[in-house]
Amino acid sequence: MDYIDLRSDTVTRPTDEMRQAMYRAEVGDDVYRDDPTVNKLEELVAREMGKEAALFVASGTMANQVAVMTHTRRGDEIILGENSHIYINEVGGIAYLAGVQTALVTEIDGIMDAGAVEGKIRSENIHFPETSLICVENTHNKAGGRVVPLDAMKRIHDVGLRHGVPVHLDGARIYNAATYLGVEAKEIAKYCDTVNVCLSKGLCAPVGSVLAGSSEFVERARKYRKMLGGGMRQAGIIAAAGIVAVEKMSKRLDEDHENAMLLAKGLNALEGVSVDVDKVQTNLIMVDFAGTGLNGTQVAERLKANGILINGSSTSMVRFATHLYITGNDVNRTVETVSRVIKE
Ligand SMILES: *Cc1c(COP(=O)(O)O)cnc(C)c1O
Repeated sequence: MDYIDLRSDTVTRPTDEMRQAMYRAEVGDDVYRDDPTVNKLEELVAREMGKEAALFVASGTMANQVAVMTHTRRGDEIILGENSHIYINEVGGIAYLAGVQTALVTEIDGIMDAGAVEGKIRSENIHFPETSLICVENTHNKAGGRVVPLDAMKRIHDVGLRHGVPVHLDGARIYNAATYLGVEAKEIAKYCDTVNVCLSKGLCAPVGSVLAGSSEFVERARKYRKMLGGGMRQAGIIAAAGIVAVEKMSKRLDEDHENAMLLAKGLNALEGVSVDVDKVQTNLIMVDFAGTGLNGTQVAERLKANGILINGSSTSMVRFATHLYITGNDVNRTVETVSRVIKE
């Protein structure tokens, strides 16, 4: 059965154009920097982000982990959101790999208050660790794809500048944020020193993320990537799809956002189901099934029996994600099916 797969935008398979590009890709050994396709992708993303250089890595997690390792020394402290992907969803890598401890800031709709961030910066004291990094996430995954506005980005970046602390942006979905704001991605990335861009989410590439920053930073990051086993050889085969992702797929995300809004409104109209429609900005929506008496796992089971996939858990909240392979028709069918199964 061909499922309507709303679990994540990572389920997107590469497009035909990507497969063609992969087939034709000119390649070389990227550890020797001989792969022209990887080089092209790195230059492209660096330019898109307004940075000097970039590094192709295996995943968004690797991009973030390499970034933290490169920016910090063991025993340092980094400031990040308590609901951030780096803190919640990266297997404790910042502790295990970088050996840093965390100073957590509460986000509201994915946004950290700059004053709260500044309050976490350590002063000079023999008892204190050094604050060596601030991490921001845009769009914010756990907040349901919320966009951190440019002025909020700037305020946090200004805090970093004042205290000499660099800012890393987990921009896994930076193109969704740019699409929502109607700006180029570099207008967002200018408020950070380094940025992670995921190619394998809504942009549909099969594998990979890119970490962009200064040339000096990327040179050092390259070594950490190698340490983690991320020095790939003829990686141009996958980088070729990444080029299509950036050049082409980044330009159509408004369709996913429209479908997400359609889905949000449709589901919110159902008895017992609620979505805060005003909070839907990009391709992720948070749906609360509390009023149906069902938890996420139960809803997921019933939907699966009807050809629709979601990630349910023991709570009543479920994240739905739209992407290239979710059409307006799929949205309608999903709303109809949810309406039916919650009454079963
Ligand atoms: C998915 C995601 C990542 C990690 O990307 P992977 O490629 O799955 O490792 C990092 N940050 C955010 C905000 C994400 O949504």
